[in-house]
Amino acid sequence: MRMKKFSIFVVTVLLTTVAGIAQQQQKLEPSAERLKKDVSYLASDHLDGRRTGTAGGNEAARYIAVEFTKIGLKPGVAGYQQTFPYVAGVELGEKNRLSAGAVTLNVRKDWMPLGFSSNQDMNRVPAILVGYGITASELNHNDYANAKVSGHVAIALSGTPDSDNPHGQFARHEEVRWKAIAARNAGAKALVVIARENNFSEDRLSRLRYDNTTGDAGIPVIAISRQAAEQLLPNRSLAEFEQAAKSKSDAAYAELATPVNLSVDIIRQEVPAYNVVGVLEGSDPVLKNENIVLGAHYDHLGRGGEGSGSLVPDSADIHHGADDNASGTAGLLELARLFSAQRPRPKRTLIFIAFGGEEEGLLGSAYYVNHPLTPLTNTVAMINMDMIGRMRDRKLVIGGVGTAQEWKQIITQANSAEAMRVSASSDPAPMQGVPIVVSANGRPIVTTNPNGTFDLAMNEDGYGPSDHSQFYGKQIPVLFFWTGTHSDYHKPSDTFDKINYDDEARILRLVTRIVREVDGAEKRLSYTTAKAEAPRSGGFRVYLGTIPNYADSTNGLLIDGVREGSPAEKAGLQPGDRIVKIGTRDVKNVYDYTYALGEMKAGQEYVFEVIRGGEKLTLKVTPEARK
Ligand SMILES: [Zn+2]
Repeated sequence: MRMKKFSIFVVTVLLTTVAGIAQQQQKLEPSAERLKKDVSYLASDHLDGRRTGTAGGNEAARYIAVEFTKIGLKPGVAGYQQTFPYVAGVELGEKNRLSAGAVTLNVRKDWMPLGFSSNQDMNRVPAILVGYGITASELNHNDYANAKVSGHVAIALSGTPDSDNPHGQFARHEEVRWKAIAARNAGAKALVVIARENNFSEDRLSRLRYDNTTGDAGIPVIAISRQAAEQLLPNRSLAEFEQAAKSKSDAAYAELATPVNLSVDIIRQEVPAYNVVGVLEGSDPVLKNENIVLGAHYDHLGRGGEGSGSLVPDSADIHHGADDNASGTAGLLELARLFSAQRPRPKRTLIFIAFGGEEEGLLGSAYYVNHPLTPLTNTVAMINMDMIGRMRDRKLVIGGVGTAQEWKQIITQANSAEAMRVSASSDPAPMQGVPIVVSANGRPIVTTNPNGTFDLAMNEDGYGPSDHSQFYGKQIPVLFFWTGTHSDYHKPSDTFDKINYDDEARILRLVTRIVREVDGAEKRLSYTTAKAEAPRSGGFRVYLGTIPNYADSTNGLLIDGVREGSPAEKAGLQPGDRIVKIGTRDVKNVYDYTYALGEMKAGQEYVFEVIRGGEKLTLKVTPEARK
C-alpha cells in the first residue's frame, strides 16, 4: 500500500524533471571503483594500520587532506588538520623508588606504577592494609569502614571477594581505577595493589600502559609483586591477608610496622593527533549558517598488541582495518565528491570530518565537539559511517533513529526510493524490474524493483561504540551506518579484498538521499531523547538526568545538559555547571562522578557543590530509582 502511494508521488515528480534528474544521477552516482581505490590505499601495508599518533596514522590524515583539496573543500582549520593532544605511550622516568625500613624494592622487577598514577615523591608515610580496597554500598561492602586510612599508603589485594566469578556482583569494582578513587576518597596518600599472578611480569598490572580516556588518578597508584608483598607484610603472610580480606576480619585492615618511602615518576609521551576537517559551504544565504556533519574515523589499531583492542593481541602484524574504518573514510571522501559536484549546491553547510583517535576512546570526536568550527547549536545533524564495507544480504544497521522525530520517515522513504531506477534516455542498457514510466518510444525510463531496498535494522539509541556518541552527548540528532561485525573484525585479516564495494556504493546513495532530505527542509530536525537500548551505566540503581561532558574531565565534572523533568533539572542544575563535590566526595572527573553515582541511593538527598560562572553554589539533588 505505502509503496504504491509513494511510487505515484515519485512518478509525478520525475515526469516533469526526468531528463535533468537522469543527467544528475548519472554524474552523482557513488563509484565502487573510487571506493576501492581509497580503501586499498588506506588499508595498505604502507600505512601500517593507521594507529593514532604513528607515522602511518599521520600519513592517512595527510592523504585525506590532499583528497579534500582535490575535491575543492575549504579547510575547516588551517591545512585541514585539527590537532588534538594525545599520549602515545608512557615510560618510566629516573626517579622511581619504593622502600620500607630495610626492604628496598626494584621498579619493574618488584613493582610498577600504573599508567594513570600521579607522579609524587613521599617519605616515611605510614601504610595500612585495606582488604580489597572496595566500597560498594549496594553490596554492603566497605573496606574503608574499619581502616584509618587517611594520611596512609593503602595496600589492597587485586580482584574482589568473589574474583573467581567474572559475572559476580563485584565485577564492576575490580578495576584498579575505581579502587584508586575509593582510596583517594578515604584520604589515602597512595594506593598499592598486590598482583594476582605469581610471576609479576605475567600480571596485567605490571605492564605500564596508558589509556587516553582516563586521566590522572590524583594519587600515586602502583602494583607490587606477590613476593614483594610478602616482604612488606612481615607479621603475616600474604595468604593470611587474603583469608582475612575474604572474611573481613581485623587482620585485613592492620597497620604495617614500617612506614613507606615512595616516589613515582612516569613520563607521558605526548604527540599530536589529527582530525581532518573539510567544509562545503551552503548555497542558501541564511541556511548556510547551519551545518550537517558527515563523519568517519580513519584511525585503526596499527600493529595491535595488548590493550589496543586487537582480537589477536599476540600478533604484531599490521591490522589493516579495511572495513574498520577505511570503508567509512572512503565513503566520506566519496560523499564529499558527490556533494561538491551537486548543482545547485546543498543549502546548508556540510562539514566533512575524518576523525582520529576513535579506537582509543572516541578522542578525536570528543575533541571536535569541544572545539567545533562553529558553535554546535548550528549543527543540525551528525551522520557517522563506521564499518560499512561488509554488507551481506542487504542487511544494514542504522543507529540513532530515535534522536530526531523525522528520522524514521526520512529513512523509510529514502530506502523505498532505492527500489527506483531512472535511466538516462541515452542509456542503452536494459533495466531490471517493472517499468513505471515509459517514454514515447517505449523505452522504460523509471523502473521499480522492490529487491533494491535494504533490509534495515533500526536502533533508537544515539549512543553507541563510535564517534556519533559524542555528538548525541551534545544533544544533536545523529545517525550511525554500520554493516555489522564479522570474523575479521579487529584482526590483521580485515583487508581491502574482502570489502563489498558495490553495496557500499549503494549505502552511500542512501546516505546522500537522507542528507539531501535534511538539507532540503526549511525546518531543522527536531531533536528527541532516544530510548537507550541497554543500561550504559553498569547497572546503577539511580537516575539523575545529567549529560556529562566526557571530554573535559579535570577540575570537576562539566555538565553539558540536563534531561527534562529529571532530578538534575528539578534540583536546578544547569548546562555549564561544574560539579566539584557530591556529599563529602570530591569530584575531579567523570570517573569520580560515576563512582559517586554508584554509591547513591534513590530518594535520598545529596548536596552537590557546583561552580557556575565563577561562583560556588550548593544544590540539593534527590536521585530517582532507575527504571
Ligand atoms: Zn574499531
